[in-house]
Amino acid sequence: MPENILIFLGCLMSLSVPLSKHLLRQGSAFKRFFNRQCKYPKFKKKGVRDSFYLSNDQIKVAENRIRLPKLGWVKLTESLRFSGKILSATVSRTANKWFVSISVQLEKSPVFVSENQTDVVGVDLGVKSLATLSNGETIEGRKPLKKLSSRLARLLRKQASLTKGSKRNDRQKLKISKLHYRIRCIRQDSLHKLTHHLCQDFKVICLEDFPGKGMLKNHKLAKAISEIMGFYEFKRQIEYKAILFGNWISTVSKWFPSSKTCSNCGSKKDKLKLSERFYHCEACGMKIDRDLNAAINIEREGIRLMRQSTLNVKAYAWG
Ligand SMILES: [Zn+2]
Repeated sequence: MPENILIFLGCLMSLSVPLSKHLLRQGSAFKRFFNRQCKYPKFKKKGVRDSFYLSNDQIKVAENRIRLPKLGWVKLTESLRFSGKILSATVSRTANKWFVSISVQLEKSPVFVSENQTDVVGVDLGVKSLATLSNGETIEGRKPLKKLSSRLARLLRKQASLTKGSKRNDRQKLKISKLHYRIRCIRQDSLHKLTHHLCQDFKVICLEDFPGKGMLKNHKLAKAISEIMGFYEFKRQIEYKAILFGNWISTVSKWFPSSKTCSNCGSKKDKLKLSERFYHCEACGMKIDRDLNAAINIEREGIRLMRQSTLNVKAYAWG
């Protein structure tokens, strides 16, 4: 996008947001503050998470373009996927790219229900590979992150030596945010492929509950988790896709010993080091890949919970 448009958008940010929306957002910010979920609300700052809201009377969407106030028609890289009443739009900036997210009110469920959904799958999200499924499938995420994160470190080191507010510093900042964006895209892509596969091909998905902040204190593991996977992003994706595909999700407690239990005879080990990649059962002599063993256990426990009660199970459906 040419620079003059960027400046226009900058002006637009201050003008276009209706007051009522401001008040609503301020209200929710203070509510979260008083509930001790957040710190005291701060004012928006230029250059930090630039975005602005547009109500539906300010925009018009056609085919693959959108009309924004003061800018006129702007081309979109993809056309709107859902049809329905357009409620609002939010224009935001990441690195040097501008995005618009359009919220649409749908009348009926978008039909994504897939014919080839098989019954149940257990999923073990891992450190070594992105995920191991109980049917023996292993899903490797793309991990170009080592190379990119060392490049990121280099860029950040260089930035530290530059004067704040200088032109060179601004250029460096842009380079860094572009790289951040690229890393995020790569990670998102792997996750989207995984969650799409799960929701499209299986009816019931058994997952382990997600670790709290406490688990992320273990630094080595934390890096692997946050770099390769993004637990919370995985959760967000699987939840919204489960609505579209109509899946059932059974969540197994994070205290369930999925790795320490033998999936063949059910005997339990007291200790299992993270470095042991194979599970060797002393009781029945079975030798199995550690992650596959965990995935099978998660599937079994997930089904048991489902039969026992509906408390841990969420059926996702439209409406
Ligand atoms: Zn065994």
